[in-house]
Amino acid sequence: MTTLSIVVPCYNEEQVLNETARRLVALMNQMADAKQIDPQHSTILFVNDGSSDQTWPLIASLHKTLPYVCGVKLAGNVGHQNALMAGLDTARTLADAIISIDADLQDDINVIPEMVTLFAEGNDIVYGVRRERTTDTWFKRNTALGFYHLMRWWGVRSVYNHADFRLMSRRAVEQLGQYRERNLFLRGIVPLIGYKTAQVYYDRAERFAGESKYPLSKMINFAIDGITSFSVAPVRMIIYIGLAFILISVIMLGYVIVSLANGTAVPGWSSLLLSLWFIGGSVLLSIGIVGEYIGKIYLEVKARPRYNIEEICLKE
Ligand code: UDP
Ligand code: MG
Repeated sequence: MTTLSIVVPCYNEEQVLNETARRLVALMNQMADAKQIDPQHSTILFVNDGSSDQTWPLIASLHKTLPYVCGVKLAGNVGHQNALMAGLDTARTLADAIISIDADLQDDINVIPEMVTLFAEGNDIVYGVRRERTTDTWFKRNTALGFYHLMRWWGVRSVYNHADFRLMSRRAVEQLGQYRERNLFLRGIVPLIGYKTAQVYYDRAERFAGESKYPLSKMINFAIDGITSFSVAPVRMIIYIGLAFILISVIMLGYVIVSLANGTAVPGWSSLLLSLWFIGGSVLLSIGIVGEYIGKIYLEVKARPRYNIEEICLKE
């Protein structure tokens, strides 16, 4: 029997929490009846990511009234990925298998038993992959697809149509803890862990209450964080632009010589035109090289804490 922990990051989710807890508890009971999980030690771990509404009091009262329900309160809003990491770090001390899922249950919880079965069969990571994005808007679907291709292009490998609904074994979460970057982009890191993986497929539902906590601005920031915390390719691009400009200055040299020979050049024009492209190119090249080193250092030195746990309610 598996000891399971379901980690749910919550940011201003008072509208969905009761229903989410009810559905997850029913699922846990069902799996306990099927002797799939250990009802004594399995948990549903809500992580309150510095919500400004009634989310935490609600989690605290659910902890008192419902089985399985536990809670972690972070001292401030650290964002979805870090909140998730706080939950995973806590859950790995409680369980053998840890599942992460969004509070709005847009991901189908009915594939969780299948995930646990795959775990029991020896998979360390089981990705939840959505079949269709029909319930998302055209805009969200296409920005997500564009983002995926951009990330691939920049060299970040991730599982297409997989977000943060996945099962991880305890040792996979422990290994994940070894990746120390502050700019967390979990769906890019998890494939790097390299243990045996499997996938389950489901249809994504609509948010049943409340609003998306990921407006466009947060999505763009998330995308930029994803790229910059994984590659220094943008800085390298400056090097290439610099090289191209220097190449243009060489071409211009030929043009200038021809113009001088023909006597069509205005005095002073040749030197100006050449220096323009050459200096421009050299400056960009130098900035690019310096940037490359700064980028490398930047990736290494980030050792800030990812979150700060203020309060925690666990099973006795
Ligand atoms: N979330 C969080 N901190 C934040 C923003 C979001 O913990 O700063 C949580 C949120 O409560 C939810 C999950 O991240 O459980 C995904 O958010 P949402 O469902 O709003 O995103 P969408 O499905 O629209 O991409
Ligand atoms: Mg959602």
